[in-house]
Order: sequence, then structure tokens, then C-alpha cells
Amino acid sequence: MKLKIIQIGEPVLRQPARLFTVEEILSPATQQLIEWMRETMQDAPGVGLAAPQIGESLQLAVIEDQPQDIAPEILAERERVPIPFHVIINPRLTVIEDRAVEFFEGCLSVTGFTALVLRARSVRVDCLNEKGEQVVINAQGWYGRILQHEIDHLNGFIDVDRMLSKSFMTSENYDRYYKGKPISEVKAG
Ligand code: ZN
Repeated sequence: MKLKIIQIGEPVLRQPARLFTVEEILSPATQQLIEWMRETMQDAPGVGLAAPQIGESLQLAVIEDQPQDIAPEILAERERVPIPFHVIINPRLTVIEDRAVEFFEGCLSVTGFTALVLRARSVRVDCLNEKGEQVVINAQGWYGRILQHEIDHLNGFIDVDRMLSKSFMTSENYDRYYKGKPISEVKAG
């Protein structure tokens, strides 16, 4: 089932989400929610979806990144590799490499806009999976960015909180004027 993705301004997007118990994770209701979130993310399409974005204040996000039709140099610059579908629950994020990397980023709850957002290059995430098992994720590059973006949602933050506001623009204008240009050129403009 496709769920409605709510937009910035809905109060639930600004609330820290509630933690799960293992029992709750294993419940049919949560397993169903995960499946619906997966369908909703794939349909959007997006590379991540956090429960607050479908109106549920819960520490749960789904992630999957299968880049298609993207130039190899763009993938390399972003350190973007395919990430299979998985679930993060009750995540705790630790920055491993503080070196900030800057790329355009979008959010399914800020439809039609994009901006440059600074993110740490590599992070560690301690969380539970959909079976309630402890998992440690070490991620860098684009995957690290996705994790930081989704975990922000679970704490009431949205990418616009971290953007370079001068770079905020419609996705249409990004495609028209800035797509494929080096970030240094974008910032100079
Ligand atoms: Zn988002």
C-alpha cells in the first residue's frame, strides 16, 4: 500500500520519534508498516523514508539506493554505491570522519526543492533491524549521507536545517542551471 508522504510544516516532522521495544518490532503491525514504507519509498521514488514522514512518530526508517542512469563520474564524486533494502530502528549515530562533504540533497517532505547540505563523510550507526537484532553499520559517502538524513528525521530535523540557504532552489532550476556542475562553481555563482 502506498502511504501519504507528509510535507514540511506538519508538526510530527519536528517531534523526536518514540523508541521501539523488540516485541513491538516483531508485531504484525510493525512488519506491515515496514512493507508499506518500502512500497511508498520505491514508488516516490526515494533512497530513504523515515516513519515521521508518513505521520508515525516512531524510530524507524527504510533505506535502499539502486542508482540507475547516473554517470560513473557523478557516482564516484559522491562515493555512491548500490545499497540493498534494509531497515534501521532506534538508531544511534556517531560521526567517524568529521570532514564535511557538500552536495545537493532533496527530501520527499520538501517536494520540488533541493539545496547544498553539509554532511560528515563517514558515520557509524548502532541500531536494530526488522528482526529486532542489534546491527552496526559503518558507512561513508552517499550511504553515510542517507543515514544522516533519515536519522535527522527521527530526531525532528529536516535537511533545510542544515542547508546552505543561498543554494536553496527548485529541482527544476537545479536541472536547468546547476546539474553536473562542480560544487565550487555553484557556490561561486
Ligand atoms: Zn527527508
